[in-house]
Amino acid sequence: MNKNYDVIVVGAGTSGMMAAITAAQQGARVLLIEKNKKIGKKLLLTGGGRCNVTNNRPVDDLVAHIPGNGKFLYSTFSQFNNFDVMTFFNDLGVALKEEDHGRMFPVTDKSKTIVEALLNTINEQEVTLLTNTVVTKLIHDGQQIRGVRTELEEFSAPSVILTTGGRTYPSTGSTGDGYKMAKKVGHTITPLYPTESPLISEDEFIQARTLQGISLQDIDLTVLNAQRKPVVTHTMDLLFTHFGVSGPAALRCSSFVNIALKDGPVSVVIDSYPQQTIAALTASLQEAAQSKKQLNNALSGFLPERLMTFFIDRLGLSEMIAEKVPLDGLIALATLMKGFEINIVRTFPIEKSFVTGGGIHLKEINPKTMESKKINGLYFAGELIDINGYTGGFNITAAFCTGHVSGKNAAETASYFAY
Ligand SMILES: Cc1cc2nc3c(=O)[nH]c(=O)nc-3n(C[C@H](O)[C@H](O)[C@H](O)COP(=O)(O)OP(=O)(O)OC[C@H]3O[C@@H](n4cnc5c(N)ncnc54)[C@H](O)[C@@H]3O)c2cc1C
Repeated sequence: MNKNYDVIVVGAGTSGMMAAITAAQQGARVLLIEKNKKIGKKLLLTGGGRCNVTNNRPVDDLVAHIPGNGKFLYSTFSQFNNFDVMTFFNDLGVALKEEDHGRMFPVTDKSKTIVEALLNTINEQEVTLLTNTVVTKLIHDGQQIRGVRTELEEFSAPSVILTTGGRTYPSTGSTGDGYKMAKKVGHTITPLYPTESPLISEDEFIQARTLQGISLQDIDLTVLNAQRKPVVTHTMDLLFTHFGVSGPAALRCSSFVNIALKDGPVSVVIDSYPQQTIAALTASLQEAAQSKKQLNNALSGFLPERLMTFFIDRLGLSEMIAEKVPLDGLIALATLMKGFEINIVRTFPIEKSFVTGGGIHLKEINPKTMESKKINGLYFAGELIDINGYTGGFNITAAFCTGHVSGKNAAETASYFAY
C-alpha cells in the first residue's frame, strides 16, 4: 500500500468524509483512515436514523443555533454553508426535503442514502479508504506535520486533517482520541462536557414517576442559575421521563444547565402557556370553572390530565367543585401553569449525550482555513473543536462545512510541497 499522500484525513465521520472528498476534488492524493469497519456510523444515527443532513435557515440563524462558539464559524460559512451542503447532495442526485424547524432530511427518510452517496463520491474521487485502522499518533517535527502513525505502520503527508469527533456515543468510534493526539502536539483542550442531553432531577414527583410519559408541546423552558437568574429560554416540546425531562426543549437547555451547575444549584421552569399572561390565563380558567364539576374535570383540555391533576393536588384544590374555587386559587393555578419549577442535579453523562461541549481551543485554530496555529499543515474539523450546536442539523452542518474548508486548504497547502 502507498505510504505517501498529499492529505491524510483521520476519522471518516461527518466532517472527515467531507474533508476527504473536498481535498480530492482539489486534485490531492488523499488517504482517509477510519477505525471502524464502516464509515459514517454516527451520522447514520442522527435524526432518528433518517439523517438530519442540514438545516434550511439563514446563516445568522445557524450561528444563533450553535451556542458553543458559533460565531467562530462565520468565516467557514462564508466559504461553504448549509445551502452549499444542500447543493452538494442535490448534485449527487440525493433529493432532500424540509421538515419542522428547518430540518433537512433525504426524501428516502434513510440515513443510508446520505452515507452511501458520500461513500460513492469518496470512491469516485479515488480517495484511498483505510478502515479498521486506528491512528495513534501525529508525526511532526515541532513545526510541520509529517504524517500519522497507526497501530501497525506510518503514512506521510504534508497535510493532516484531524476529524475524530467528540466523546459522545463512543460505540460509533468517537472515543476522544483526537483530543489526546492534539494535546500531545501542544494544543489546549477546553473542558469537555455533555450537551444536547436529557436533564436529571431528584425531585420527589420525578422519583415517584408521577408525570412520566407526559409530553408538552411548544412550552417555554427556562434555565435558572444559582442566583435564580434566567440564563436561557427555549420554546419547544418537552417530555417527562422516569429520570427527569427530555425532548427538544430539555436538550437545548442542557449545555446551559451544565455550565450553570458549576456555580451551584440549577432549576428549570416550565411555562405551559407562554403566549398568555397570568391574568389572561386566570380569566380563561375562571370562565371554565363556572361549573358544578370537580375542578380537574372542569379544566380538562388546559393541560394533559395527569399534569393538571398534579397541579391541582399540589395547590390543595383537588376535592373542590370548580365554581367554589376562590379567585386566588385560580391565580395560583395559572401561576403554577406558567412557572412550574424543577430542580436539576445533572444531565446524562457525556457518553450518553448527543454532542460534546468543549474541545480544541479556538484561539489555536485559524478560522479561515481550520489550520492549527501550532503545527503547520495540521487541520481540524467537526465536533473535535470547541464548538457545539443544537440538534436539528446544526452540528452536522458545522461538521460538513468545517470539513469542506479544512479539506480545501489542506489540499492547497499540500500542493506547495509538490514543487
Ligand atoms: C444519537 C445522535 C443523534 C444526533 N442527532 C443530531 C442531529 O439531529 N442534528 C445534529 O446537528 N447533530 C446531531 N448529532 C451530532 C452529530 O452527529 C455530530 O456532531 C457529528 O456527526 C460530528 O461529526 P464529526 O465528523 O466531528 O465526528 P463523527 O461523525 O463522530 O466522526 C468521527 C470519526 O472518527 C473516527 N475515529 C475516531 N478516532 C479515530 C482514530 N484514532 N483513528 C481513526 N478513526 C478514528 C470515528 O470512528 C468516527 O467515524 C447527533 C449525535 C448522536 C450521537
